Amino acid sequence: MRGWLLNKTDAGEITSHLGDVDETDLPTGEVTFAVSHSTINYKDGLAFTGRMPVVRSYPMVPGIDGVGVITQSHDEGQNVGDHVIVNGWGLGETRWGCLAEKARVAAHMTIPLPNGITPLEAMTVGTAGYTAMLCVQRLLRHGLKPSDGPIAVTGASGGVGSFAIMFLSSLGFEAVAITGKLSESDYLISLGASDVRDRGDFGGKFKPMERETWAGAIDSVGSNTLAHLLAATKADGCVAACGNARGMDLTTTVFPFILRGITLAGVDSVMIDHARRLEAWAAIADHLDRKKLNLIGSEIVTLEGAKDKAHEILEGSLRGRVVVDING
Ligand code: NDP
Repeated sequence: MRGWLLNKTDAGEITSHLGDVDETDLPTGEVTFAVSHSTINYKDGLAFTGRMPVVRSYPMVPGIDGVGVITQSHDEGQNVGDHVIVNGWGLGETRWGCLAEKARVAAHMTIPLPNGITPLEAMTVGTAGYTAMLCVQRLLRHGLKPSDGPIAVTGASGGVGSFAIMFLSSLGFEAVAITGKLSESDYLISLGASDVRDRGDFGGKFKPMERETWAGAIDSVGSNTLAHLLAATKADGCVAACGNARGMDLTTTVFPFILRGITLAGVDSVMIDHARRLEAWAAIADHLDRKKLNLIGSEIVTLEGAKDKAHEILEGSLRGRVVVDING
């Protein structure tokens, strides 16, 4: 099969090669599928460049997301010909991923491609959109409803942020976009943001208890921005935290927790259980607005083009999502 293979030299340099990969080297697992599409995430950029040690063993086929058709199954519930999605589970990090013509995974790792979603759409959503939905569902499980007030969305013009705005607005929430790119205000409003705020106003100097502003928040940037959100969340509110685009530090006080009873809810898309994934993808199918998906946009590249995009995503020069058409 054709695929990307990453290796590490004795000097610690990461090499990447697109070529024939021996199918017999695929990892063990009950389900083998022909990958039709994958996508390029930040983590794939880290894997290709070695900028952070996300790949734990070599040689490694990168690609944390994939969609395709089952070609071999030793699982009673899954049949040859079924369309499946995989996200995370250590693909492209600890076990071979989806930037290749075939992937083999454990049965519990697959999700049936929901009716009405095409493989291309599934990979345009990818881990970014699926994580955004996990965050939205975390707020809903907390009991938040549109009448509780506005939801702040940080990193708004990024992958997670854009999908979070789309899904929140589809559910009737007032989603306030917090962004470093005010030039993208029209885009954010078109996605469904009720207001756009400059990220410079968040995470500078703030008091341990700010005016109660947010019913909740979806934060993909971390650091002082997250600390500021916590201080300005209304009593009994909930902040879903999934990322660290600004930084991994978090300095806060206990006041928002002990005086306002707010919840800081972590969201991890990689190892979350199967039931929650099914729930998230079903909700994505229900709330995917094609017009807005087109606004987010996806650039389609072939397997050959994947490496350049993996480098570009780290430079922050990509806008929208990149889908890899494996057979293109
Ligand atoms: P993107 O690169 O698409 O978006 C990140 C956005 O964060 C940027 O577009 C920018 O938005 C904002 N941002 C960037 N730098 C800073 C900064 N210094 N200070 C404040 N804001 C900043 O990434 P994704 O949306 O795909 O991912 C976002 C984060 O979520 C990443 O940290 C990623 O690792 C994490 N993640 C976690 C997952 C999980 O399972 N927990 C799954 C997927 C992603 P703007 O210009 O609009 O402010």
